[in-house]
Amino acid sequence: MEIKITKTQTPKVMPKESELGFGKYFSDHMFVMDYEKDKGWINPRIVPFERITLHPASTVLHYGSEIFEGLKAYRAENGDVQLFRPMENIRRMNRSAERMCLPQIDENDFLEYLTEFVRCEKDWVPHSFGTSLYLRPFMFGNDETLGVHSVARATFMIIASPSGSYYKEGINPVKIMIETEDVRTVRGGTGYAKCGGNYAASNRAGERANQKGYSQVLWLDGVERKYIEEVGAMNVMFRIGDEIVTPKLTGSILPGITRMSCIEVLKGLGYKVSERLLSVDELMGAIKSGELKEAWGCGTAAVVSPIGKLMYEDVEYVINGNEIGSITKQLYDILTGIQWGKTEDKFGWVYKI
Ligand SMILES: *Cc1c(COP(=O)(O)O)cnc(C)c1O
Repeated sequence: MEIKITKTQTPKVMPKESELGFGKYFSDHMFVMDYEKDKGWINPRIVPFERITLHPASTVLHYGSEIFEGLKAYRAENGDVQLFRPMENIRRMNRSAERMCLPQIDENDFLEYLTEFVRCEKDWVPHSFGTSLYLRPFMFGNDETLGVHSVARATFMIIASPSGSYYKEGINPVKIMIETEDVRTVRGGTGYAKCGGNYAASNRAGERANQKGYSQVLWLDGVERKYIEEVGAMNVMFRIGDEIVTPKLTGSILPGITRMSCIEVLKGLGYKVSERLLSVDELMGAIKSGELKEAWGCGTAAVVSPIGKLMYEDVEYVINGNEIGSITKQLYDILTGIQWGKTEDKFGWVYKI
């Protein structure tokens, strides 16, 4: 479908790259497309960034029909703009849509819309290493009725936010608290879908952890509260002896693209990687016996984030002397090297705009 482009008459100036932070500023345009049950997706357009209006009965405001994605446009050393495995985000968004009874988007059309939008906003991709243009595709149910049913009208949008380096002050290990009261999702629920509701339900535990001085929570499974699942907005990996363990995708864990990429890189380097159930008791045993060598979170925002301190049942454990571990560092160097176009992309993960 042809994309109608309306350029802004009042372009903004991007703030200094050192002052960008995350998600505070937005580029000049946004992509919008409407869905109507009897017509399918219609009217793909790029328009000046502006507020949107919604009917007060709009489905999303009452019943939470919302899904999203997060990926980045990177500026390579030669000035090129590139994405990292965008088709994986597109496929995941369609899986999220299926779970939430929202309409799917043809993969190739989606990639074309994303590419065209990033082309339009390419001057908003900052230049320093570690900075990026964060892309946020999202979709919501937009029926103008309070009746409860799957949606007949939806809106799909992509907005872009120039973002600063996650590690402005160096890669400092984070403090994580294992949550033993609230749960994020259960098997059969929406854990594998990237939907806003998962975050709304996570906020209380996150706030309680913050009050105790921890930056994020580590979730346990929602049925037995026994198995490790993931960290707030990151998947998690542990080096136990010479095995790298990451919780397997049981349906309640978000299948991260960084997680998948870390597994492929680690296997390529010859490490033993296991996707399996990991109980909190096994993890505590490995900490006490000294077998736990490293722990890290992985997600698009941070790439990898070393875990320096872990709190469980009011006891704080220090991991690897609160230093980044060698495998964590290796993953960071390889993945950021590919993303920012500093090292050869042996995997074919980079998509040039
Ligand atoms: C997005 C997200 C991740 C990380 O996924 P990536 O594709 O690696 O960015 C992990 N957990 C949750 C809950 C998420 O929403």
